[in-house]
Amino acid sequence: MKAEIIAVGSELLLGQISNTNARFISSQLAEIGIDVFFHTVVGDNPNRLLDSIKIAEERADLIIFTGGLGPTKDDLTKETISKHLNKKLVFDENAMIFIEDFFKRMNREMTENNKKQALVLEGCTVLENKHGMAPGMLLATKSHAYMLLPGPPKEMEPMFQFEAKPLLLKLLHNETVIMSHVIRFYGIGEAELETKVQDLLDNQTNPTLAPLASDGEVTLRLTAKSDTEKDAWQKIEALQAEILHRVGKFVYGYNNDSLASKLRDILIENELTISAAESMTAGLFQSELAAVPGMGEALVGGMITYTEDVKIKQLGVNEAIIKEFSVVSSQCAEEMAVRVKEKFNTNIGIGITGAAGPDGHGGQPAGTVWIGIAYGEMAPISYKLNLSGMRNTNRLRAVKFTIHYLLQLLREQGNARI
Ligand code: ATP
Ligand code: MG
Repeated sequence: MKAEIIAVGSELLLGQISNTNARFISSQLAEIGIDVFFHTVVGDNPNRLLDSIKIAEERADLIIFTGGLGPTKDDLTKETISKHLNKKLVFDENAMIFIEDFFKRMNREMTENNKKQALVLEGCTVLENKHGMAPGMLLATKSHAYMLLPGPPKEMEPMFQFEAKPLLLKLLHNETVIMSHVIRFYGIGEAELETKVQDLLDNQTNPTLAPLASDGEVTLRLTAKSDTEKDAWQKIEALQAEILHRVGKFVYGYNNDSLASKLRDILIENELTISAAESMTAGLFQSELAAVPGMGEALVGGMITYTEDVKIKQLGVNEAIIKEFSVVSSQCAEEMAVRVKEKFNTNIGIGITGAAGPDGHGGQPAGTVWIGIAYGEMAPISYKLNLSGMRNTNRLRAVKFTIHYLLQLLREQGNARI
């Protein structure tokens, strides 16, 4: 099934808002293995909308519209489709009751044009709007399926997830089972990953294989189609085994895992505690960990040791180390990790020090970061990063790399099951 998303709204063309609806719907469709080949944006103009529909019908089976379902004069999506397909607009009783109720609850007078929102295309399946008034619609003709969704993301997103997606799955499931599985990587660039699996990308059929990079992370999405779930999963497992064989070292998790959630799971599973002394990240590492529920069992606390003075006087870093090697050095990062581990009496101590940019620091160019890890009785170890982003991108990268290296270390130590 090929899909096209048509976002309707002049404000999109004027640059007043971004087309986040298309992004959201595309990512949702990818999950269920529906290919999106085109995103179209068109203003609130019935003639140009009609042109767009005709073009989409030539190249897509499923056409998804967002926007223009509201009560005002410029909301013309369903009217245009109604004319084009020669389908009447009829009142949907449930939607009407919901709209009347809404105005009663708000103690507001309902105006005539609000009734317009309860009009739906004859013969369609109505998608309930739990967060607004305009219902969505799914209409199937012999050749195409048309889905109409409201513009506001807080209405559209839950409607798509909870109403539309199950319907689409049902449509697809009659033919086949679709299963998606995401492998998550860190510490390897998109280009390098693609090179390592290039032949798999070139020869993909079933499962399909789609790489995606964002925020320094890379994912591979495997989507298999089959008659049974068991067979779909076997197909995914076979391809996954080949991928792990080649680049398994960089895999940190699957599907909804995040670096921080994976770290939490492994720390808790192994009853390990952690503390951190942070210089250039100034608490960002601990904040990222704390964003994951349940981290309290592992994250004990830590220190922001931004200045040399605080590193020496509060954390207890040996002044001679800083004098000899500077604050941006493997020696300083390791010393920070060891001291914080001692001070907070944890199994793991982390030290992060570097030059976030735009200026250099400690005699090192912007983007130089040293990550120190003190783990159990092991001698402390450190890792160097040469980052090239803006200041705050570098700070976040430093945090993610810290988690990545720690996960690798724990895995090498036989703690982590991946
Ligand atoms: P309403 O009942 O609010 O009028 P509607 O279905 O008629 O909803 P529009 O009038 O087209 O939708 O858009 C309403 C608002 O929804 C826009 O002002 C914008 O904030 C948001 N919106 C519309 N389309 C998009 C889109 N493609 N991506 C993100 N936001 C959007
Ligand atoms: Mg509107």
